[in-house]
Amino acid sequence: MTNLILFGPPGSGKGTQAAKLIDKYNLVHISTGDLFRYEMGNNTPLGLQAKAFMAEGRLVPDEVTIGMLRNKVEAHPEAQGFIFDGFPRTIPQAEALDSLLAEMNTDIAGLIALEVDDEEIVVRVLNRGKSSGRPDDNDEAIIRKRITVYKQETTPVFDYYAEHGKSHSIPGVGSIHDIFERLCMTIDQL
Ligand code: AMP
Repeated sequence: MTNLILFGPPGSGKGTQAAKLIDKYNLVHISTGDLFRYEMGNNTPLGLQAKAFMAEGRLVPDEVTIGMLRNKVEAHPEAQGFIFDGFPRTIPQAEALDSLLAEMNTDIAGLIALEVDDEEIVVRVLNRGKSSGRPDDNDEAIIRKRITVYKQETTPVFDYYAEHGKSHSIPGVGSIHDIFERLCMTIDQL
C-alpha cells in the first residue's frame, strides 16, 4: 500500500492535485473537508456537529473527525493506498492515523506539502468562492482565520512526520501540470 498525505494551507491546490494523483497511482482520495460538506448537505447529525466550526474557520473536534476518517478508511478494504487531503490537521489526528494504518499493517509513505504564500492563498480562495458556493471561501476574515489555524494547529503535523524523515515540500505555484510533475517526482522517490 502507498499512503500519502497531501498537505498545505487552504487553497494550496490539494484537491485539484489529489484528483490527478488518484488516477496515476490508483489510490483512494479521502478529503475530510469534502466528507464534512457531504454530511452537512444531508443534514446528518455529524454534519450539524461540524457546521458551526466550519463556518467560523475553526477545526472540527478531533474525536468527531477521527471517527469519520476511520469509517471512511474501513469502507475501502480493497484500496491499494490512500491520499489523505486535509487530514491529519492536528498531532492527535496524526497519531490516530498512524495507529489505524498500523492495525492494517501499513503506514504513511510520505507527506508532501504544497507551499503557497498567504496573500496568494487569499486571492485563490476568494476566487474559488465565486463558484464553490462555500460560505467559508467567500469571507476574507474567515479565510485569514483558516490560515492562522493552519499555522498554529496544523504545521506541527509537518514536523511530526519530519521526525521520521517522511515530510517533503514543493512549491505550490505555477501551472497545475508543473505542480503535478513536481508531486510525481517526489512520490516516485519515496
Ligand atoms: P477543507 O475543505 O479541507 O478546507 O476543510 C474545510 C473545513 O472543514 C475546515 O476549515 C474545518 O472546519 C473542517 N475540517 C476539514 N478537515 C478537518 C480536519 N482534519 N480536522 C478538523 N476540521 C477539519
